[in-house]
Formats: sequence, C-alpha cells, structure tokens
Amino acid sequence: MEDTHFFTAAKSERDLRHPEKAKNTPSVALLKPDWIRAKAPVSKEFQSTRELIRAHKLNTVCEEAACPNIGECWSQKHATVMILGSVCTRACAFCNIATGLPDKLDPHEPDNLANAAEKLGLKHMVITSVDRDDLDDGGADHFVQCIAKLRKKTPNTTIEILTPDFLRKEGALEKVARARPDVFNHNVETVPRLYPTIRPGARYFHSMNLLSKVKEIDPSIFTKSGLMVGLGETKEEVLQVMDDMRSADVDFITIGQYLQPTPKHAPIQRYVTPDEFKMYEQVARGKGFLMVSATPMTRSSYHAGDDFEKLRKARSERLAQKA
Ligand code: SF4
Repeated sequence: MEDTHFFTAAKSERDLRHPEKAKNTPSVALLKPDWIRAKAPVSKEFQSTRELIRAHKLNTVCEEAACPNIGECWSQKHATVMILGSVCTRACAFCNIATGLPDKLDPHEPDNLANAAEKLGLKHMVITSVDRDDLDDGGADHFVQCIAKLRKKTPNTTIEILTPDFLRKEGALEKVARARPDVFNHNVETVPRLYPTIRPGARYFHSMNLLSKVKEIDPSIFTKSGLMVGLGETKEEVLQVMDDMRSADVDFITIGQYLQPTPKHAPIQRYVTPDEFKMYEQVARGKGFLMVSATPMTRSSYHAGDDFEKLRKARSERLAQKA
C-alpha cells in the first residue's frame, strides 16, 4: 500500500475512516521542511482524469491515501487504481485508507478499469488494492481478472501491480504471478523491528518471501518494493532491508519520507534530509538494484511509467554486459 500524508479530513470524518485509532492520543506535528512540497491539483488535465475515474466508478489510492503527488500525477493522466473496494481489513498505523467492514466485490470493476485505461490512453497502468483478509483468496482472482481484461482491451499497456501480502491465502500469490504482470510490486513499508507498531497485521519475512517467490515463479517479471523512512528506523536497518531485498532478487527499490495522514496515525519521528536520500540511492545502486527511487516525495507508483522504461533499459544493458 502507498504511504500517506497531510491532515486533510475533518475530525469526525477521520474518526469514521479509522475507528480503531479514535482513542489514540493525537501527536504534535513536526514543522514541515521546505523540501516537502506538493503541486496544487488545479490543471485542466487533472480535472479530466478525475472525471474519467468517477465516470468509471473506480477508486484510487491517490485520493484514498491523500497522496501529495496527486496534482502532478493526475495532470499527466497517471492515476493508481485501487481495486477490491475502498475499505481495508487491516489497520496499519501509517495508512490513510479507511478501515472496517469491506465492500462487496464489484464484478464490473475489471471491465471499468480496462475501459478507463483505454480512454486515458495509458502506456503503463498501476493497480493496487486494499487488503481483503475476509476473502478466501485475498482478492487474487480479482487481480487476475483485471490483468486479463487490460491485456485484452489495451494490449500495449504495460501492467504494474502493487499487492497486499496474501498472508495465509494458500495459492493466491502463485495465481497472481502466473497472470504475468510486467511489474510485481509489494512494499515491505518499514524495517522489521517496527512491524509490531507500524504494520502489526503483517510479517516482514512473509513479505520478503513473497517477493522472492514471484521471481522463482517467473524471472521475467520485474519485482519492486519500497519503504518509508522517518518512522524511527536507523540507517543500518535500512541498509539491512536493502540486503534482504537483494537476496530476494528485487529489481527496484523505492524509498520515500513517511508523512502522517492524521494526528492519530504513527507520528513522524524525523524528516530525512535530501542528502540522506541521495546517500540511500547511491548505496542501493551499489548493492545492485536495477532501479532506485529515493527522494522525500517518492511513492511506490510515482513516475511509474517512466521508471518502467528505465527498468527495461537497465535490464537489457545488464544482460548485454554479461553476454
Ligand atoms: S504517487 Fe502514486 S498514489 Fe500518489 S498521486 Fe501519484 S500515482 Fe497516485
């Protein structure tokens, strides 16, 4: 799931979206540094992307997570569609997606998604979802249907999926990987020490194994994973996560600043400086990732289309070097 941001919702709305956090003591926000900037969503292209998303009754993580990049991304017709409803069955401490009783599956969603991709003329599409622990397959079949409809309707659109962890859903991951998305993204989100407080419903090594398994099933699929910094992790812990990802043969790592969605979410421990992000980028490149995106505003799907082109190029160059 994408990491989230800014205190946008009114108090009652916030508590409604996150009933499990209603009793949390609100934290005092740190002063935002000037390198955390968002482009205002005002362009004509932004409006037309929004209208198209509404017309096709789609949810987006861009809106649900209150992503600060929405002005920029939607102006370029790049939206990340969130399937399987808008309510999540987990309650991660960093995430702005509404939690509670999940929605009924919309059987028309795969068609609506493919139609929207066609109308937007997308070269690259990113699909993510809420966690659906209530479904027997965690929503795997719905992912497969969305990929199949897209392949049929817009065969030239490359497909990136950003999935939940399918924890305790036998065979779900295999089913989705065999649908052959171009990029399989699953975020580890934070360092293992912080899982009990930040991502309590998940298991770090399960997520790492998932990434490794995707590569085993189909080595041609690019794998991608990301984490947020500023949650209290140390530099050494981040470097260890990089090593774990490389052991799982992950191709692309994303690292961005955690931004607290509401005062009742996990507090920001600190703002990581642009120089530190540069250091992370250089170290990650040295560790052999094909692609690295490490900036304060990096999010999993930020610039995903352009980055996919770079990823393909980087793989070809590496293969040429080995030949
Ligand atoms: S970075 Fe991702 S979630 Fe944020 S607006 Fe862009 S596409 Fe949407």
